[in-house]
Formats: sequence, C-alpha cells, structure tokens
Amino acid sequence: RLIRDAMSRGAHSHPIVSPTNWKSEGPHHYDVMVVGAGFAGAVMAERLAADGDKKVLLVDRRSHIGGNAYDELDGAGVLIHRYGPHIFHTNSQEIFDYLSRFTQWRPYEHRVLAAVGDLLVPMPINRTTLNSLYGLDLRTEEEAAAFLAAQAEPVAVVRTSEDVVISAIGRTLYETFFRDYTRKQWGLDPSELDKAVTARVPTRTSVDDRYFTDRFQAMPLEGYTRMFERMLDHPNIDVLLGVDYCEARDAYPHDHLVFTGPIDEYFGYRFGKLPYRSLDFRHVSLDVDRFQPVAVVNYPAPDVPYTRITEYKHLTGQKVAGTSITYEYPAAEGDPYYPIPRPENQQLFKRYEALAMVQSDVTFVGRLATYRYYNMDQVVGQALATYRRMAKAAAGPVAP
Ligand code: FAD
Ligand code: UDP
Repeated sequence: RLIRDAMSRGAHSHPIVSPTNWKSEGPHHYDVMVVGAGFAGAVMAERLAADGDKKVLLVDRRSHIGGNAYDELDGAGVLIHRYGPHIFHTNSQEIFDYLSRFTQWRPYEHRVLAAVGDLLVPMPINRTTLNSLYGLDLRTEEEAAAFLAAQAEPVAVVRTSEDVVISAIGRTLYETFFRDYTRKQWGLDPSELDKAVTARVPTRTSVDDRYFTDRFQAMPLEGYTRMFERMLDHPNIDVLLGVDYCEARDAYPHDHLVFTGPIDEYFGYRFGKLPYRSLDFRHVSLDVDRFQPVAVVNYPAPDVPYTRITEYKHLTGQKVAGTSITYEYPAAEGDPYYPIPRPENQQLFKRYEALAMVQSDVTFVGRLATYRYYNMDQVVGQALATYRRMAKAAAGPVAP
C-alpha cells in the first residue's frame, strides 16, 4: 500500500507514518484518528493536536491533502484546482482569522459571466445583465426592480429551486439562466430540489457584478495545498495518505475517531445509498495568454454539455506564458462532490444521523459526513465548533 509524504510539492520535514517505522518503533497508539484531509479533517486535526495536545493520525485515501480544495502546479506552471474552482469567501472574522494563521492572502473578488447566445452577461443577474439581454436602458435600482416585478410570478408557497427563482424574476429569465444549468448540474429539474440550491445565486438591481458580497474575499497567496501543509505541520500530527479508513482502522489503534467521509459509507450503506452528485473535470492548457475575460464563464444552455469553464490565471494573478482552463461536466457516478438537497435525501440522512448520534467514540464533521451543501468557510466553522464541543465535554462538568 502506498504511504506518502503530505507534501505535494518539494521538500518538507513533515513526519511520515510508514508501516515499517511503526513496526520498528513498536505499536503506535493515537488519541484520535481523523479520516479525510480536507477542510473538516485538517481543522479537526490541527485543533486536536495544537490546542488539545492530542496525538493525531490523519488518514486520506487520496494521495494528497486538501480534499476537494487541493491545488497543484500543472505542466504549464499554472496553479490549478484538480477538483474545480475554489473561491474563498466568508463573513466570519473568526474563520478568516483562524485560516490567516496558515496563509497570507491575495485579494480577489470573484466575477462570473453567463454565455447566452453570443452574449457574455454578468451572473448573478444584475442591471447590466437586463440591459444587455433586452437592449434596455434601466438606469436606477428602482427601474430594475420594477422591471423584475413585472416579470415575477406569484408562488403561494416557495419550496423548490424553481419556485424561488420564478417568484423573484419570472419564467423567461428562469429558463434562460437557471432551468437548464440546474438540470445539467444536478440531473434533476429545479422543481425537484430544495429552494436553497438556486437561492445561493441572488438577483440584483444594482450593477454590482461580484459573485459574492461577503466581507472577506481572497485566495490563499501560495494556494490551498500550501495552507493545508502549514496547518498539519505539527509534531502531534502524523499523516497517512493513499490509505482507506477500512485499512487503517485496525492497523492504528486509537481512542476516538473523527470521520469526514460520506456518512452512508461509514455505516455500510445499511439504509441504502445517500445520493451525491459528481463531476468530471477536463483540464486543458492552451497556448494563448487569456482564454476568457473572467475566472468563470457559466454555460446555462441545454445543448452545451458542460456547466462552466474556469481560467485559473484570474484567480492566482500568475504571469506565465499560456493559460490553463477546466471544463466541468456533471456526472451521476464518480467521487461524491455534492450532497443533493431535497426532502427524501434529508430524511435518509436523518436515519444515518440517528446512528451517528449514539456513537460516542466517533465524531462526524464536514460536507459528506453531515450531508450539507456547505462552502469551505462553513465547513471550517462547523469543525471549529465541533472541536470546542469535544474539548468542553472532555474537560467534564465544572464544579459549582
Ligand atoms: P472534502 O474536501 O470532500 O474532504 C473529504 C476527504 O475525505 C477527501 O479527501 C476524501 O478522499 C477523504 N475520504 C472520504 N472517505 C474516506 C475514507 N473512507 N478513507 C479515507 N479517506 C476518505 N466552497 C467554497 O467555499 N467556494 C468555492 O468556490 C467552492 N467551489 C467548489 C467547487 C466544486 C466543484 C466543489 C465540488 C466544491 C466546492 N466548494 C466550494 C465546496 C468545498 O469543496 C467544500 O466545502 C469543502 O472542500 C468540504 O471539505 P470537507 O473536508 O468536508 O470534504
Ligand atoms: N445556478 C444556475 N445557473 C447559474 C449558476 C447557478 O442555475 O448560472 C444554480 C444551479 O442550480 C447551481 C446553483 O444555482 O447548482 C448554485 O450555484 P453555485 O454557483 O453556488 O454552485 P457551486 O459553485 O456550488 O457549484
């Protein structure tokens, strides 16, 4: 089996666990085994080791740390994201300060255009989008709001991803920007998905063309992987890569388990599989300086098989010859990337969660283990809160 250093690039003195070392040094015993080296697992490992003084073994079946946020230099020297574009944004001072211990930042405000016919228009829809699309001259927020109000269709109870858009901007804009993108992305009609999915993307009457409006918006200066390396560079943390939990479980005795993989997998799918949506990524390097005007262009049309194209130089500010882009093709099979928010899936998750709650020696954290469509900052926040609860419980009741 493959045991690798946590480093993806270059030399580093991080301790490596290997079965040989382990045998020659006698049986290692860990206070905590953490499964998954993404945001959830890395934050838990860092807190347990650095704040809790616990001896931690972090295990991931992939050959690298960082989970889905993993980035790496490609053959052209561009820092690309192997699992699709990851843009950091948060409103939380606490989460931003915590991550800032492990990275400096490159200020970056994300902008997205949608390809509609021959046009590239701002997404989220804003006043510029409406003016470009319809040849209008809406000059104020009030005029744009009145235009949208005239399009909107009343919906008695806003429940689904179709309702939430139609009730705000009407059917024509819904069909142009949301219906087919969502069908491609999820393999479901928006009427079959919780409203929270399309509600992630607002509609604006201003000309603000940023994708996010959070207080903090930035990219890790040297990339996500370097940030994870620094988080995990602690004498109490050992990292074991390329090894599945089921192999590591008995080989490395531990008192407690933190599990950040899919919760249904942990329980042997005993109630059936929880649906996750996957993606195929096509990474391409091109011999041109720039491919598109912004980092991400969305393709909402049904006859285009991919949902979006990302050009990384916009994210990193790198000045290199050539450029690297990624096409995202939604897929039913493959690595689990997105929990699928809809009532029947939530009900199935609740059955697994009930099993999880009675396992006092296992803690479930992260997007896959808690089946929540969380952004990176939300996963960091969830992990920090989970650690605080664990530390408090370990300290026991305070004497009156
Ligand atoms: P993951 O990153 O999935 O890590 C889980 C790890 O556990 C994986 O490395 C996996 O290999 C490992 N694992 C699972 N099971 C086992 C097992 N049995 N044994 C060993 N290892 C195991 N968020 C943002 O904030 N901004 C964005 O722009 C953004 N863009 C995204 C784009 C895409 C295409 C995707 C899919 C997600 C995006 N996200 C974004 C969300 C972000 O990726 C997640 O919030 C975050 O990475 C979740 O971290 P995690 O640790 O919970 O899970
Ligand atoms: N969406 C859409 N058209 C777009 C952008 C988003 O229909 O141009 C919908 C789609 O259902 C998508 C959801 O809004 O899955 C959330 O979009 P976001 O960009 O937040 O998705 P993520 O970055 O998580 O893939």
